[in-house]
Amino acid sequence: MRLRALAATLSFSVVLLSAPLAHASETAAEHAANVYAAQELASHPIGGNLPDYSLSPADLSRAQHLHTTEITLVAVDTAWSILQLVLLLWLGVVGWMRDVAVRTSPFRWVQGAAFFAIFTVVGLALDLPISLYGHNLALRYGLSVQSWGSWAADQAKSVGLEWIIGTLLIMLLFWVTRKFPRRWWIAFWVVSIPITIFSIFVSPYIGFLYNKYEPLTKNHAQLAQQIKQVVDKGHMDIPLERMYVMQASAKVTTMNADVEGFGSTKRVVVWDTTINKMKPEEVIAVFGHESGHYVLNHIRTGIFRSFAIVFFSLWLMFLMTRWMLARFGATWKIPDQSDWGAVAVLMLSASILNFVLTPLGNTLSRNMEHAADVYGMEAIHGLVPDPQQAMQGAMIDLGKASFDVPNTAHWEEVLLGSHPALGRRAAFAHAYNPWAPGYAPKYFPKQ
Ligand SMILES: [Zn+2]
Repeated sequence: MRLRALAATLSFSVVLLSAPLAHASETAAEHAANVYAAQELASHPIGGNLPDYSLSPADLSRAQHLHTTEITLVAVDTAWSILQLVLLLWLGVVGWMRDVAVRTSPFRWVQGAAFFAIFTVVGLALDLPISLYGHNLALRYGLSVQSWGSWAADQAKSVGLEWIIGTLLIMLLFWVTRKFPRRWWIAFWVVSIPITIFSIFVSPYIGFLYNKYEPLTKNHAQLAQQIKQVVDKGHMDIPLERMYVMQASAKVTTMNADVEGFGSTKRVVVWDTTINKMKPEEVIAVFGHESGHYVLNHIRTGIFRSFAIVFFSLWLMFLMTRWMLARFGATWKIPDQSDWGAVAVLMLSASILNFVLTPLGNTLSRNMEHAADVYGMEAIHGLVPDPQQAMQGAMIDLGKASFDVPNTAHWEEVLLGSHPALGRRAAFAHAYNPWAPGYAPKYFPKQ
C-alpha cells in the first residue's frame, strides 16, 4: 500500500514539475516579449481593450456580456455534473437503473449495455437545459450557424458513440475488477495505455461523423503550397494529399486549423472559416502554430502526461469509490464494486477529480500553446512579409470572431484557460522579435 501511494505521488509530481520547467528554457527574446505582454495586461483595466487587441465599443459590450454568461455557464455546468450524480445515487435512481438492467437479461453484456444506455439517456436529459441554453447563446452571438435539427443530430451521434464506447469500457473494467478486486486500478491503467494510443490514432475518423472534408489542393492550391513550405521547414513529412479543408462554415463562424492523428492517419486540417475570413499570411501563421504542436511533439508529450495523470486518477478513483461504497453503499443500495450501480459511483469520483485536476491540465496546455506560438512565428519567418504582424493579426481575427474580451482577469486564465489569454497572445506576437540584434530564435537558427 505504501509503495503504491509513493508511486502514484511520484508520477504526479513529475507531471507537476514539468510545468514550471517549461519556463526555465525561456530565451532572452521570449522573456522580453513575455514581460512586454504582462505589463500591457497589468496596465489596462480588466474587461477592457488593449493596445494590441481591441474591439469596437459595441463589440466590447457584447463580448463582456457573453463572457459573464459563459463563466456562469461553466460554473453551473461543473457543479451540476457532480450534483446530479449525488442526487441520482441518493434518490435511489441508480439502484432502480441497476434493477431494470438486471431484469432485462441473464447475460452480463446485455445487462451492462442496458444499464449504461439508461444511465446515458438520463444524463443527457439532465444536461439538456444547459446544452440547449449553450447552443441558443452561440446562435444569438453568431458563433454558431448550425440549425437546431443538425445540432440535435450531432447530440444523438455523440450519445450513440458514448454509449458504445462506454459499454465496451465498462465491460472491460468489470472484467478486470473481477480478476483483480484490490488492484483493478493498476490492471485497468495498463489496458488503458493501448486504448489511449488507439483512440488518438483513429480520432481523425471521428471527425468524418460530424463534418465534411475536401482536399486542400482542390480549391486552394496556392495556400497548400505555402503550408507545404512550413511543413517542409519543420521536417514534418506530410504530403499535399493529406491536407484537408473542413467545411466548418456549415456549423460555426469561429476559426481553426490542426494537425491530427499520427502514423498513417496523420493529416493537416484547415477550417474553411479560417481561409474565408483571414488574410493568407494569417492563415499561414495559424498553421505555423499548429505545426509547432506537431514538431515539438506535443501529441506524444500529451500522451505520456496522460498516462501519468490516468495512473494517479485511477488510484484516487479506486480509493474514493471504495470509501463511498463502504460509507453509503447500503443507503444507495449498491453493495459493492461488482454491482452495475458502481459505475455511477466511479463517475462521481471521476467528476470530482476532473474538477480538481482541470486547472493543472490547463496549465500544462497553456505552456504548450505558448511554445507553439513561438514556434509558429519562427516557422513562418521568411515565408510571410512580417511574422509578428501576421501572428498578431491572426490572434485579433480569432478574438473578434469569438467575441473574446481583450483583457481578462488573471485568475480566469489560470483556472479556465487551455490557451494563454488572447490579449496576452496578441501582445506577445506584437513584441516577439528574436531576429533583432542581440537575440536569437528558439527553434530555428538565425536566417
Ligand atoms: Zn494550439
